[in-house]
Amino acid sequence: MSTQPPAPASQSPYPLEGGCVCGQVRYSLARPFIVIHACHCHWCQRQSGSSYVLNGWIENSNVTLLSPTGPIKCSIPTPSGDVSDLYRCPKCFTVTWRIDQDANGLDVTVIRVGTIDKSQLVRQPDAHIYVKEKAPWVTIGEGQKQYEESYPNREEVWSKEGLERWLARRSC
Ligand SMILES: [Zn+2]
Ligand SMILES: [Zn+2]
Repeated sequence: MSTQPPAPASQSPYPLEGGCVCGQVRYSLARPFIVIHACHCHWCQRQSGSSYVLNGWIENSNVTLLSPTGPIKCSIPTPSGDVSDLYRCPKCFTVTWRIDQDANGLDVTVIRVGTIDKSQLVRQPDAHIYVKEKAPWVTIGEGQKQYEESYPNREEVWSKEGLERWLARRSC
């Protein structure tokens, strides 16, 4: 049992640090994610070797590379025929993030939540997506939003703050 008193609620754990398995790539996140997806699609299962992937979306400006070495781009095919730009440590090949482009050509960083040192401090996913391809033994918590594929509109899943941050990102 911990003897430390609980941290006051106002004390933010951010910036949160993370990195690859070997430690060559290190980064920090200045703020909580705009939105977090648990993606159960088979493509995510294949490229991660796991049953689903936790992807946290955040503005590029809120990600700081702390190490002299940055991850290298590795473009991989996707089921839609587009490529996906995964960024891997050049030494241990852990994927630390993906860079996506939105409809306006603006980049967004999609962090692999599991690469954060204290990933337990990150809130639960805002939505489980592609649940139609979910492993049957994975149980989604009661009350958590889940969708057969993607969700119809952001307002249904994203917080007000998340939507505002996304719009602010577009205008700069
Ligand atoms: Zn590494
Ligand atoms: Zn997926």
